[in-house]
Amino acid sequence: MERLTPVAQRAPGRWQIATVKAIKAETPRVKSFRLELPMWMPHLPGQHYDVRLTAPDGYQAQRSYSVASSPLDEGEIELTIDRIADGEVSPYFHDVVVVGDRVEVRGPFASYFVWRGESPALLVGGGSGVVPLMAMLRHRRRAMPEAEMRLLYSVRGPDDVIYADELGEETVVTYTRATPPGWTGHTGRIDAELVASLAEPTATAFVCGSNGFVEAATRLLMEVGVPAERIRTERYGPTG
Ligand SMILES: Cc1cc2nc3c(=O)[nH]c(=O)nc-3n(C[C@H](O)[C@H](O)[C@H](O)COP(=O)(O)OP(=O)(O)OC[C@H]3O[C@@H](n4cnc5c(N)ncnc54)[C@H](O)[C@@H]3O)c2cc1C
Repeated sequence: MERLTPVAQRAPGRWQIATVKAIKAETPRVKSFRLELPMWMPHLPGQHYDVRLTAPDGYQAQRSYSVASSPLDEGEIELTIDRIADGEVSPYFHDVVVVGDRVEVRGPFASYFVWRGESPALLVGGGSGVVPLMAMLRHRRRAMPEAEMRLLYSVRGPDDVIYADELGEETVVTYTRATPPGWTGHTGRIDAELVASLAEPTATAFVCGSNGFVEAATRLLMEVGVPAERIRTERYGPTG
C-alpha cells in the first residue's frame, strides 16, 4: 500500500469520489449540484474542478466546472452546470444524476483566474460565465464585506438568470434578447458606456463566458482604461 502524508492525500491532482448532497434548478437549463468531498480542501474563488464520467465499457469523458460556492463551506463545493443540448457531460448531470449519486472529481485548479481580495473588483459574466464570479461574490459577502465588488451580468432573458434570488445591489444585469415585464434597466449587449459606468480606474476585472463574450468584454474594458494586466479572463466554450 502506498503511504501518503495528509498533504499528499489532499493534493488537488488526486481523483476522489464526491457524493451529491443537493440539486437546485436555477433556470430551465441550469442546475446547481452541491457535492460532499472526502478529501476537500479550500479553493480560491474562481478555481475549478475536473469532473470525470466513466461508462460501463470504460469510456471516459472529462470536463471542467468552476466552483460556485465560498471556500467557507467546509467539506463541500457547489458546481453549476448549463445543459448543452448535444453535449456529453452536462446532459448527464441534468438528466441522470440524483441526490446520493457519486461522481469523480479532482481539484481545485487554476492560479490565475482567482480572486484574492483585490478591491475594487469588477466582475463581468456572460451566461454560465457568472459561476466563478458567484464564488467571488459569495465569498466577499461572508469574508470581506468591505472589499468593493461590482458584477455586470449579461443574460439572454428573464428565464436565464442564474442565482436570481442572490443578486444584490452590487449587480447590474443586462438582457440581450428579452426583458422581464416593466424592465427599465439595461438591455442589449454590454457596451463601452455600461462598462465605463462600473469600471473604476484602479479596478481589477474578472471576465468569464463564451469566447466571443470574453473577447468583447476585454476589448471594452481596455477601451475604458482598465490595463490588460488587470484583466483576468476565463473562457468556457466555443460559441458566443
Ligand atoms: C475552466 C472551465 C470552467 C468551466 N466551468 C463551467 C461551469 O461552471 N458551468 C458550465 O456549465 N460549464 C463550465 N465550463 C464548460 C464545461 O467544461 C463544458 O465544456 C460544458 O459543460 C459542455 O460539456 P458537454 O460535455 O456537455 O458538451 P460537449 O460534448 O463538450 O460539447 C457538445 C457541443 O456543444 C458545444 N459546446 C461545448 N461547450 C459549450 C459551451 N460552454 N457553450 C456552448 N456550446 C458549447 C461543443 O462545441 C459541441 O458542439 C467550464 C469550462 C472551463 C474550461
